[in-house]
Amino acid sequence: MQLEGHSVYIRPGFKPQKNWAVFLDRDGVINQEKHLLFKLKDWQVIPQALQAIKKLNRAETPVIVVHNAAVVARNLCQIDQLEKLNQHMVKKLKQRGANIDAIFYCPHHRQAFNPRMVKDCPWRKPGTGMLTAAAKKFRLDLKKSFIIGDSARDILAGKNVGATTILVKTGHAGKDSLYQATPDKISQNILTAVNWILSL
Ligand SMILES: [Mg+2]
Ligand SMILES: [Zn+2]
Repeated sequence: MQLEGHSVYIRPGFKPQKNWAVFLDRDGVINQEKHLLFKLKDWQVIPQALQAIKKLNRAETPVIVVHNAAVVARNLCQIDQLEKLNQHMVKKLKQRGANIDAIFYCPHHRQAFNPRMVKDCPWRKPGTGMLTAAAKKFRLDLKKSFIIGDSARDILAGKNVGATTILVKTGHAGKDSLYQATPDKISQNILTAVNWILSL
């Protein structure tokens, strides 16, 4: 299903070297959780994320960000600002040697304040649409893939596609949630999560 507002970033030259990926939530996993982040100056990396992503890059494991974008649904900013923020993230990480291979996001909400974003969208986590779209695009086996998140909605989305799910104690640390989901593993942060994945 192609819905308005689903543009996908793919790193130029990205060609998956594996048939599985590590999916990352953005806020609270890669960057500090700032409630409703949309300003570039508020984007602040979680220090362990740099090393974690670099390790995945070195292991030639696809690194795919999947995030909900409530800031757009709430009309705090428009899609172009969200894209600017994501490009800022890509650039900041790249400058320090960490490459994001792709970014999928969902700006929809069934009760969005922005009338163009009102959709009960299957991409919005805990929906699985971003994961299945990425799997299709990059020929990934989701059952062999991993998702690292700080919210139960991330864990639930991963569980619903049979991925291995890891809850990190950064960001919301799973405490925000409206959903009930038990992760396969709990890790201190993205780096300990990645170390675990790469040790399997
Ligand atoms: Mg999060
Ligand atoms: Zn959507």
